[in-house]
Amino acid sequence: MAPKIDATLARLHDLPTPEPESPLRPRKPYRFSTLCATVENPDQKDQYGSSSVPIYQSATFKGVGNPYDYSRSGNPTRSHLEHHIAKISSAAHALSVSSGMAALDVILRLLKPGDEVIAGDDLYGGTNRLLTYIRSHGGITVHHVDTTDPSSVLPFLNPSKTAMVLLESPTNPLLKVADIAAISKDVKERAPDAIVVVDNTMMSPYLQRPLEHGADIVYDSATKYLSGHHDLMAGVITCNRDDLKQRMAFTINSVGNALAPNDCFLLLRGTKTLALRMDRQQANSQQVATYLHGLGFKTHYPGLADHPGREIHERIAAGNGAVLSFETGDKEMSERIVGATRLWGISVSFGCVNSLISMPCVMSHASIDPATRAERGLPEDLIRLCAGIEDPADLIDDLERALIEAGAIVFDEQQNKYVRVPSASDELSSAVQKLGLDYQQEWFVSAPGKIILFGEHAVVHGVTAVAASVDLRCYGLTTPRNDGRLSVHFSDIDNFYYEWEIQSLPWDAVTPLAAGAQHPDTLDQVLMDAILAGPLKELGEDKKHARAAALAFLYMYLMLGEEKRPSFNFTARATLPVGAGLGSSASFSTCAASTILLVNRAITLPPPPQPSSAADAGPPHVHISHQGRRFIPPSTADTVNQWAFIAEKVLHGNPSGVDNSVSVFGGALAYTRAGFTFNDGKGGMEPILGFKSLKFLLTNSKVPRDTKKLVAGVGALKASEPELVGGILNSIQSISHEARRALADPELSRTELLSALEALIKENHEHLVTLGVSHPSLETIRATTAAEPYGLTTKLTGAGGGGCAVTLVPDDFQASSMDSLLADLTKEGFVPYLTSVGGSGLGVLSPYSAPNLIQMTVVNPGEVTPPPEAAGQSAADVATLRLAFEKQDVPVLSQWAESLGRWLYV
Ligand code: PLP
Repeated sequence: MAPKIDATLARLHDLPTPEPESPLRPRKPYRFSTLCATVENPDQKDQYGSSSVPIYQSATFKGVGNPYDYSRSGNPTRSHLEHHIAKISSAAHALSVSSGMAALDVILRLLKPGDEVIAGDDLYGGTNRLLTYIRSHGGITVHHVDTTDPSSVLPFLNPSKTAMVLLESPTNPLLKVADIAAISKDVKERAPDAIVVVDNTMMSPYLQRPLEHGADIVYDSATKYLSGHHDLMAGVITCNRDDLKQRMAFTINSVGNALAPNDCFLLLRGTKTLALRMDRQQANSQQVATYLHGLGFKTHYPGLADHPGREIHERIAAGNGAVLSFETGDKEMSERIVGATRLWGISVSFGCVNSLISMPCVMSHASIDPATRAERGLPEDLIRLCAGIEDPADLIDDLERALIEAGAIVFDEQQNKYVRVPSASDELSSAVQKLGLDYQQEWFVSAPGKIILFGEHAVVHGVTAVAASVDLRCYGLTTPRNDGRLSVHFSDIDNFYYEWEIQSLPWDAVTPLAAGAQHPDTLDQVLMDAILAGPLKELGEDKKHARAAALAFLYMYLMLGEEKRPSFNFTARATLPVGAGLGSSASFSTCAASTILLVNRAITLPPPPQPSSAADAGPPHVHISHQGRRFIPPSTADTVNQWAFIAEKVLHGNPSGVDNSVSVFGGALAYTRAGFTFNDGKGGMEPILGFKSLKFLLTNSKVPRDTKKLVAGVGALKASEPELVGGILNSIQSISHEARRALADPELSRTELLSALEALIKENHEHLVTLGVSHPSLETIRATTAAEPYGLTTKLTGAGGGGCAVTLVPDDFQASSMDSLLADLTKEGFVPYLTSVGGSGLGVLSPYSAPNLIQMTVVNPGEVTPPPEAAGQSAADVATLRLAFEKQDVPVLSQWAESLGRWLYV
């Protein structure tokens, strides 16, 4: 059905052009700034000819049958404002409400249960929060896609289901651009009944009028540019369709969130200067962006030539706005810069006549745990600027002073100008290269297991799965030997111990990698065969698990140790149940890979941190949680991850890479296999930005399972009942998307997050039951945890058919209830573990802080001397840490490891 356009639309556009027209010298329609400054409504003349629209501060109006009776339904000041907003937005209709979020709320009430919404994946946090709410309370499915790529919308467009497409462009604070015109066109062609909604707050109607590019509804947080002075909260909605306007006006009248008369007056006054302010603000922003970019800071602003969305933005918008952001490479430096500015006020929001500065990660994303923030979120060091109308020279002068004061730039005599000082991360890499750590020291590492929170089984068919690290860890310790032998001790695999003469290993079968080259995708079968036929030939089927672990270990040792052939023992232990689907092999692979890389100095740690605060200055350095200390640079973590993936390949043949990535990087990630219709055939792994650590109870059913058979069973069901399984896969895809949104949403309160997750856990488990992969033992765990007084929500995790169940534990769950639940589960023969999910990945015990590590001093290359304890003694004599490590009981292992010194994390 073609939308009906209001008959007054054409008239509205010409409205301000004064009558009468002369046919000889016709007047042109007024330009934008004239429209802004001219507040006139011929249908609403003021009785006294007032120059400024009066404030009708009245709740009621006398009489019957008059245009106004009650201000919830209509108010003359509001009518003036809405007329004016419609005019400057080239819209037939405008509505004004109490905030930008109220505007979105009114728009979302056009939806009904069962509808589907496609929205961007980089939206304003409050928008995510409201979408999450309608998802969990309104029966609405929300698909989040990367709208910088219009084709990512296509797979989700369904003519009978898609009711709304919600876009934001450019986004805040990374200024990502969506092609509103292309997406609107696709929506109209493929799902004609769907409405396209655009949040235009970052641009205002002056710079971008999405109705002209095919959008059906546009809204602005008028708290920003439209009002311009940060003195009111308001939201405005514009559209051309009568039916949509009427339905939204009905909501506003029903709920009573229309903008109050006083605020209407203020907003109307602010709007008059919109063009003037915006011209100045964006000219200032352009200068500031050019200045920062010129100094070499990574700067995000559509007005810069290297902005990736510049071409699209130029086609759709008439300017670049006044928000920009830049990265310094060093969070502390960014904090110093923000703290050193005077003119730039530290404040959230934007669009004000005064210039504002903020650090999104510290201000709006501060609730995200520190360990996961930088790695997976917005750049930790990102500074957002919104230029005001001040003199640009003063703004740049103030910023320059702050940059100098913070040590971000210095004057270069030769170039006769200020230049950027390389950031801490730049310096780190060159310092690392200069520094050598002696491989004669002990290296103690740890890495977490993982659980699949959502999407197991469905992931095999192309649905996105959400996996997170679990704070049950594998530990690996290398202890130097000086007898030319290499040994491994796998405590959790029947206490397996084996040692080899290093010279007798199959070095001839090694094809060394070229300098700097990565391991190829496929394993070197010649080397694998040589290891199995040589050092592992005595290990039979009865030792197949230990043999597989030793094969992975030796494969990496031979590939990486060709030059140094270091002599050491490697002991691995785990607080994770092995073989229960919790990623024990991946955490083993991460520990083995990182220690072999460290021993061979294929990776090194950055130089010791300089004591900069009382907390850093000296003992005690007890590391209490895994979320505190990020020290291992991402490039080092990448190298470990590549080799952990190789080890996983040796162990499993064709792993997805999820387990080892979670184990190295920690936190949570979304994984999609490539080549399926979901996600337009695209696959890959994406960290979940801002994942919050959550408490879970993991319960091992102790029932062994056959993963291959369970996966094949789902495949067979899909073949025999394609519609049923297809529907389930679709639903699980929405669950994963929604979980991802909720987990990453910094604005969602803890209670909202937990209740959203509970609903998703329940829904996902029910689908898994329909797919036939649950097990009576898992249902017993569900029933036990759900029973009064616990009332907890549980789902199976991983392949099902036994294995483990996960139960979400609210923050306020009583310790006494937990004790009795643990007792109940244990009584039923299960093994429960109370753990947190989403904590840090790979950790290395700091060689700078741990007194027990042999020779922890940092030495320069060429100055290496053997540690005194090691000279002339047997391995067992010197391996004090190793002996203590091997004899700790599992329940206290983590605590003991943490008490050794400071752990450094990815
Ligand atoms: N949309 C965007 C892009 C925003 O930045 C904001 C507020 O920061 C809103 C919507 C919400 O507007 P309000 O705070 O007026 O409710």
